Amino acid sequence: MIKFISQKLYIRVALSIAMVAIVVSILSSMLSYYSGFKEKKNTNYLLVKQLAQTMEKTAAIAAYLNDKELSQEIVNGLISNDLVQGASLQGETNAQGEIALFIANGTINKQKEAVSVKLVHPFLEGAYIGVLSIYPDDKFIQQQAQAALKKEFILMLIQSIVIAFFVSLVVQRWLTQPIQNLTDSFAKINPSEPETLKMLTFKQGKRDEISRLTHGINALMHELHLTISNEQTLRKKTQALEAKFRLIFEQASAGICLLDDKNTITTFNPAFEHYFTVPGEKELPTLHFPELLGNVDELQSLLVAIRSAQNPPQTTLDVECKVGHKTLWFHCLFVRLNDQRESKRHPQQLVEVILHDVTDRAERELQTRFEADHDPLTGLLNRRAGEKRLNKALQECTEHNQHLVLMMIDLDKFKPINDTYGHEAGDKVLIETAHRFKTLFHEKNDMCIRLGGDEFIVARLVTFYDKAATHQQAITLLNELQQAITIAPSKTCAIGASIGIAIAPTDGTQLHQLMHNGDKTLYHVKETGRGKVAFYEDIKN
Ligand code: GH3
Ligand code: MG
Repeated sequence: MIKFISQKLYIRVALSIAMVAIVVSILSSMLSYYSGFKEKKNTNYLLVKQLAQTMEKTAAIAAYLNDKELSQEIVNGLISNDLVQGASLQGETNAQGEIALFIANGTINKQKEAVSVKLVHPFLEGAYIGVLSIYPDDKFIQQQAQAALKKEFILMLIQSIVIAFFVSLVVQRWLTQPIQNLTDSFAKINPSEPETLKMLTFKQGKRDEISRLTHGINALMHELHLTISNEQTLRKKTQALEAKFRLIFEQASAGICLLDDKNTITTFNPAFEHYFTVPGEKELPTLHFPELLGNVDELQSLLVAIRSAQNPPQTTLDVECKVGHKTLWFHCLFVRLNDQRESKRHPQQLVEVILHDVTDRAERELQTRFEADHDPLTGLLNRRAGEKRLNKALQECTEHNQHLVLMMIDLDKFKPINDTYGHEAGDKVLIETAHRFKTLFHEKNDMCIRLGGDEFIVARLVTFYDKAATHQQAITLLNELQQAITIAPSKTCAIGASIGIAIAPTDGTQLHQLMHNGDKTLYHVKETGRGKVAFYEDIKN
């Protein structure tokens, strides 16, 4: 309670004033007491002196007459005065040294200072006949001074308390109450809730310091309210937006990652992590993007191009990559971002990559393309795709000064196999034949094509053409084809083939011309006994 009271400003002011007033009252009362006491004492001495002078003549007569009765009366009369503590009348000393008269009453303290009047002889001038001594009553004087002090002290105390009370009222009315109002208004303010930032109330019209202070605070609060409200609205919007983006980023089915200027993956979403984390591993095998996709050179040059382009368009690339034991296909979309967060002048060039796993689609496409380009029975290139490849090879031949060795092959007496063992057995012969082609011609620049029926082309692009070596290869192939073929669990058959060879560009630079010449050579072999190899250059004339 005391603590609560002492927290009130106006009570503290009043208490302080009252305390100071009491101390000042005590000090001033004490000062007044001591000065009053001394003054009173002097006044009393003066009065006692006057009293002594008044009684001087009568006392002189009483001493002259040696009248004890009169002397007694004089002394008694003096004693009856409040100011007198004691009095004595002493007569002359005779020849024997005896005091003729000594009358005393009251307290006579020889140590104390007395007011003494020498009694002069009534007839002989200059002759003294006794001494009248009056002892002033110091105690009475002290009591009087104390009473005066007490009165003065009480008066000053009352004065001080009244002043303190009024000062506290004034302080309470003009200072404490307005400050209290301000404090109460402040107590309702919660900076996290802008609606509580209400205007503080103050009496309009008054222009004292507190009103001006309130006015200033209100202006500040108005600004604060606006700023906080705007900031909160903005923060809410940003948070909602951020949540949406995070949701998109985290739950996107596409893999999303961000690359820094060294092509290091700085951020990636769960889908991205899922794509590239090898089962059983916890982390991505590498954070270097081109290495992660295993297509380092192509990706690195593509990323350099994206970064150096003036206005880079969105770039896409389908990448085949190995993740663990699986081969996956990703459709990648590259977008250059300018990150100005650290420096607006020199924004960091980041690249955002969005990857879609298109393995299923790519596999289907590959399968479809394979089926479109290959003969379903033998798996060799079909005529259309074969011609396309041969045309491409011929182009390379011209561009790089190379040679294309084209072997036109037709199985000898294949029809009887069909007729004897059935169509299925014939198919097996065709499949095994194709297998033998692929075993001998599997280099990068080799092509094995089924033109239709039992007719094939085996072609090889060579930098240096060697007729003897080519002839040897054709003989080896022929021998290989003549090997027995198992057409049923315990049934084999053997078949021969005829080979006509045409060489580009010598025997033709155009495919139809080359094929025609190869065909011509093949039929020459057929006509001249089958099971042989012939070069166009040898039969053309
Ligand atoms: P030649 O020595 O003159 O080449 O005589 P050949 O018996 O081999 O006759 P030819 O090359 O003219 O005929 C090819 C035969 O191949 C005709 C056809 O019945 C057969 N044939 C064509 N396509 C297929 C096929 O896909 N499967 C099977 N089993 N036979 C086929
Ligand atoms: Mg044939």
